[in-house]
Amino acid sequence: MKTIVFHPTKENQGSVIETCAQIIREGGLLGIPTETVYGLGADALNETAVRHIFEAKGRPQDNPLIIHVPDATWLVRYCKDVPESAYRLAERFWPGPLTMILPRKQIVPLQTTGGLETVGVRCPNHPLTLAVIAAADVPIAAPSGNTSGRPSPTKASHMLQDMDGKIEGILDGGDCAVGVESTIIDLTVQSPRLLRPGGLPLESLREVLGEVTVDKAVTSKLKEGEKPKAPGMKYRHYAPKAPVTVVTGAPEKSAAYIAAHLAVADGVICFDEFAPLFAGHTVHRLGSAADKLAQAQHVFDALRTFDDTDVPAIYAQCPDDTGLGLAVGNRLKKAAGFHIVDVGYD
Ligand code: AMP
Ligand code: MG
Repeated sequence: MKTIVFHPTKENQGSVIETCAQIIREGGLLGIPTETVYGLGADALNETAVRHIFEAKGRPQDNPLIIHVPDATWLVRYCKDVPESAYRLAERFWPGPLTMILPRKQIVPLQTTGGLETVGVRCPNHPLTLAVIAAADVPIAAPSGNTSGRPSPTKASHMLQDMDGKIEGILDGGDCAVGVESTIIDLTVQSPRLLRPGGLPLESLREVLGEVTVDKAVTSKLKEGEKPKAPGMKYRHYAPKAPVTVVTGAPEKSAAYIAAHLAVADGVICFDEFAPLFAGHTVHRLGSAADKLAQAQHVFDALRTFDDTDVPAIYAQCPDDTGLGLAVGNRLKKAAGFHIVDVGYD
């Protein structure tokens, strides 16, 4: 199959959106831009199309997909017992990087939900994708557009690397503004539970919901056989070929630790300020230590870059857990299989 990359311009945008909507309606696979990462989209209500998503990614069948809708009025089409808190969250944070887990209606196939009686729903903040969903008039199921186990794509070109020849098209909507996937909140339990940290900070959720508990899979490696609430959290995602060591703690201290332990050929992922310390090594900068949005935008790019090199090992500086730091740190730690050295803050 030839994968077409669509480059919308002012002139052709209307027809590109219509062509993309048609791919979805006809059961095809389309790479879609969102503010978080690129998604591998198909009609969420079409079991065959959804099965093709799993095949193209090599994704385990028990790992459910998030469905994408154009606004909160679609919640009742696909979810039962929608709590009032879902509408408050949507009002404040949609379109945006927030996925809500709610009880599914029968119309959403079990193929889409990985066999679960719940469904993850989100409204992405990207005008092209919102236009395609509205034109197709079906929700788009879309996991991240990478091959399973690879870092999520934050550019159309990343997605083409993984999906060329396997899908009908990719809609190029530019680089992703947020760079890490959506925050996932489970609203089916008594205190809402954070299942995956992402582009919307936990602090923002607490402003609207009050108490939010954090699932164990967010901060620690699960034991053999332990099942997280978000099935995807059990897989070792985002893994570069070389082993990663994540160093947490004050930036000056983590930089000093890395400088002291680095072998000649090893690579480094570090905050901008510390790059000069690692001259002569393959270095990928995350952004400055204080700029967590920049770090989110660069974290997957950094992990992907190292796949094209022969570095035997990678050391990564890690931000603290506040704001977007929780999501950036989680992606780095998952890439490291939770191999973490903590040098502390004092
Ligand atoms: P991705 O699309 O690659 O960002 O992966 C989607 C994530 O959402 C995975 O970690 C899934 O396990 C999680 N997810 C999707 N639907 C549900 C659901 N109904 N319950 C719990 N987690 C879900
Ligand atoms: Mg993914």
